[in-house]
Amino acid sequence: AFGGNTDLTLQVLEQVDSTNTRLEQMRRQGMAPPMACLADIQWAGRGRRGRQWLMPPGAGLPLSILWSIRHWPAPDPTITLAAGVVVIRVLEALGARGLSLKWPNDILVHGRKLGGILVEGHAQAGAGVDLILGLGLNLRLPRDLPIDQPYGDLRDAGLDLDVSRNVLAARLLEALTDMLATYPEPGFAAYRTPWQAHDACAGRPVLIRGARTLEGTGCGVDAGGRLQVLTAEGMVSVEAGEVSLRFA
Ligand code: ATP
Repeated sequence: AFGGNTDLTLQVLEQVDSTNTRLEQMRRQGMAPPMACLADIQWAGRGRRGRQWLMPPGAGLPLSILWSIRHWPAPDPTITLAAGVVVIRVLEALGARGLSLKWPNDILVHGRKLGGILVEGHAQAGAGVDLILGLGLNLRLPRDLPIDQPYGDLRDAGLDLDVSRNVLAARLLEALTDMLATYPEPGFAAYRTPWQAHDACAGRPVLIRGARTLEGTGCGVDAGGRLQVLTAEGMVSVEAGEVSLRFA
């Protein structure tokens, strides 16, 4: 069991396919939230939309939390954004610099991808939502991985792992479970301003690919966590769902 006011069951594994998948299996087997899973090696990490999250042995910290929120009819996409704020706060408190957030689910260091958040939810007929919040964070990644976008690790943030993995994992778990325990009231209202203070897209040209392609300038997020993009046709709200964002 882990920490303060929750009875979090923590599973620490040498290796796992994916910490999110592992918690999903345990959920299906009837294990009750809250639970968390950490691993040294994650060999089939997942991103959104079936994309791969690469993590060579020892190079990253994969961590997932299974949490139940009552009175919620469906998973709320703003949880992903709030989790980004929480992760940045933990890393900055440890001395990391140059961090920002790229809508909807990326944590950047000097504009390069340092980590990703993957929230998967299950509505429980009349009983709220079970969600699995996963974080993949790059600690010390080889520079030549086949990743199709710029990436970085905690060394680039000035941490160079003088911080131990265990301390980092404990702080992240504590802060993320605190956030989950106090969501949904007041929910994203408490995170929108800090999210926007770290918005990597604010005032920058962005290109959004999804069902249609959209070009414009990032203008923060609305109260529902939708990205606001100023296009030639005016302001457009973009839902996270099936879209991918790049700097244009
Ligand atoms: P995008 O960030 O391109 O919009 P996405 O949100 O669909 O994509 P994510 O779920 O954030 O994707 O993560 C998967 C993508 O992240 C991969 O396709 C790859 O480009 C990149 N990636 C994979 N492993 C890593 C890693 N260890 N560090 C940084 N980026 C990675």
